[in-house]
Amino acid sequence: MQSVLAPIDIQRVRQDFPILDQMVNGKQLVYFDNAATNQKPIPVLNALAHYYEHDNANIHRGIHTLAERATQDFEASRQKIKSFLNAEHIEEVIFTYGTTDGINLVAQSYGRKFLNAGDEIIISTLEHHSNIVPWQMLCEERGCVLRIIPIDNNGDLLLDEYEKLLSERTKLVACVHVSNALGTINPIKTIIDMAHRVGAVVLVDGAQASSHIELDVQAMDCDFYVLSAHKLYGPTGMGVLYGKRDILNAMPPYRGGGEMIKEVTFEKTTYNDLPYKFEAGTPNIADVVAVRTALEYMESLGKENIAQHEHELLLYATEQLSDIRGLRIVGQAKEKIGVVSFVLDGIHHQDTGVILDQLGIAVRTGHHCTQPLMSRLGLAGTTRASFAVYNTKDEIDRLVQGVLRVQKMMA
Ligand SMILES: *Cc1c(COP(=O)(O)O)cnc(C)c1O
Repeated sequence: MQSVLAPIDIQRVRQDFPILDQMVNGKQLVYFDNAATNQKPIPVLNALAHYYEHDNANIHRGIHTLAERATQDFEASRQKIKSFLNAEHIEEVIFTYGTTDGINLVAQSYGRKFLNAGDEIIISTLEHHSNIVPWQMLCEERGCVLRIIPIDNNGDLLLDEYEKLLSERTKLVACVHVSNALGTINPIKTIIDMAHRVGAVVLVDGAQASSHIELDVQAMDCDFYVLSAHKLYGPTGMGVLYGKRDILNAMPPYRGGGEMIKEVTFEKTTYNDLPYKFEAGTPNIADVVAVRTALEYMESLGKENIAQHEHELLLYATEQLSDIRGLRIVGQAKEKIGVVSFVLDGIHHQDTGVILDQLGIAVRTGHHCTQPLMSRLGLAGTTRASFAVYNTKDEIDRLVQGVLRVQKMMA
């Protein structure tokens, strides 16, 4: 990991992302939909191809050479994730299909075993649907009660109100680290400490935080942390659930099948140890292998450098877009990642998105899988530009010109 802040050569970085070098609707592509998924650098694409060209075999069970190599590569990724998260034990790293999958695992395994009628689960107004619906399903099944931390108009959580919600009835707090819709960085350590004071366990949705913020699950002291590789310059359909070892050991398996067992008879099955207990079936081997390359790629640039670059883009975009009459930025939290959500007076976000696409600019429009947040803000949706390491100020200028064009066309 680089320790000194050295400016990244963005033009060189862009050459690592071949997808960026294309025309869309006759214009050079501007990709500002990074909060939905970011693009993959050549080393990651090569890692995927290399795995299938040289090493493809099913893992753990084989004794032939390819199976050994695939298993080693697969487990090397687990080791890499362990240090990426600064987890204490390797078996605390469970591979999943993504953030949504990890949250469902915790809700269905931990939740069904340890939560009962009348127990309370606290989430926040900022949550993505994937950190709302699994808890609603659990509440319905177990008779638990869902409580919601409110926000102010800037998109910051109201911690005083959170304090009032906490009680001995609170059994679990599930909170997003960084909001995908507004970019708010939550004071996650404070949120976790407050929950622990009443004895609740805490799950942190790190889908959006993981590519922007230095992570340390031991310092945070969270009980669970979930993320998706595809928001980390890695492949889709692969994610991680971190959990504290004692808690994971106390949880029943979530899915049954191969790999998660020690011994199976028709009378009784004994389960495998961590982490395999939660990894039934053949996993996404190639994608797991390629994640290591994605993390190495981020390290080679320096996560701090990436964050610094994105922060400069955030400041520049906020300043430039604020100058546009009839444009309002939604979400002005004290601490933000490079996400700018905005609305245009009298113009539907969908029209904005369609016209920007005609200009070659990819943004996200709509509710961003945060419908309750949008309704709290009194909005049907927003237009969202979100930044990654390969974006530039020139591209933000293109966005600003694009928005002016939208206003002209819709006037
Ligand atoms: C993307 C995202 C999710 C869902 O991730 P999947 O990869 O679709 O499972 C959850 N929470 C936040 C904050 C996100 O940004």
